[in-house]
Amino acid sequence: MTAQILDGRGLSQKIKEDLKEEVAELKKLYDNIPSMINIMVGDYHCACAYANAQKKTAEYIGVKYSLVHFPEDAKQKDILDYINKINNDSKIHGIILHKPVPKHINYRFIADHIAPEKDLEGINISNIGKLILDKQSIIPCTPASVMEHIKLSGIDIRGKEAVVIGHSEIVGKPLSLLLLRGMATVTVCHIATSEAGRLVSHINRADILVSAVGKPLLIKGEWIKEGAIVIDVGINRVKDKIVGDIEFESASKRAAYITPVPGGVGPVTVVMLMRNLINAFKEQK
Ligand code: NAD
Repeated sequence: MTAQILDGRGLSQKIKEDLKEEVAELKKLYDNIPSMINIMVGDYHCACAYANAQKKTAEYIGVKYSLVHFPEDAKQKDILDYINKINNDSKIHGIILHKPVPKHINYRFIADHIAPEKDLEGINISNIGKLILDKQSIIPCTPASVMEHIKLSGIDIRGKEAVVIGHSEIVGKPLSLLLLRGMATVTVCHIATSEAGRLVSHINRADILVSAVGKPLLIKGEWIKEGAIVIDVGINRVKDKIVGDIEFESASKRAAYITPVPGGVGPVTVVMLMRNLINAFKEQK
């Protein structure tokens, strides 16, 4: 078997075109466009690359994007005061707090102060609560991107064995809830699964395998079930190359569908952020 590539770049371009049209319609209707602020604290080269992609995508679809930079030694109170100000500013429809933040800043505490209706990454406590209760909420961007890739495969996930590797707040946990929404049978693996020597046996039976670990080529192609959908969220720099968590070549020989790295989950994640902004704008109008 040679896997069909789930092309994130093509998918993101298609969604971008739809969003661009939607923004043009909203502009006509409200004489206004969605506007978001990305708060970055300190100076992180890798974070800047993601922010640049956001800015470029925002410009393309026609929404307003501002990057607000706080210095490395910024006080937590100053960031909170700023968030309170823009929470109450009706001209701002979406806010994100860029990761990572310096050690003296409590990311969770600050993220939970973003007004839920403006929390574009869907990661504050109220939006995660709504996700658990299957209520309408802002869907976290990377899990939303994974679900778009699965949708692209055309495979119905109901009753399928879905194995998610990684249980972070931003990817693995919310993704497992989205897969549950679709009535997949979900197993979440993590470092302790590996330590117990059980990772391979879970991967072996996965109809849908998603890896969000951040360890280059951790998952060997021969572990993958024939005909699986394989989604690699991992982004790892090895020398001057970016690779995923999964051995792409050997996995492609067993999977039915697979995402490349780069050019898979990443490009669609940025577009999901813009979709969340547009939905937040519509909710606020
Ligand atoms: P994280 O560090 O918060 O979590 C890593 C997870 O992997 C944890 O659950 C940990 O227990 C698990 N883990 C670590 N070693 C393991 C092992 N040997 N076996 C099994 N599980 C193991 O990471 P994160 O923020 O969720 O990001 C994960 C990866 O996804 C990173 O490479 C990151 O760059 C990438 N990422 C990509 C996007 C995107 O849009 N493409 C977005 C977010 C994160």
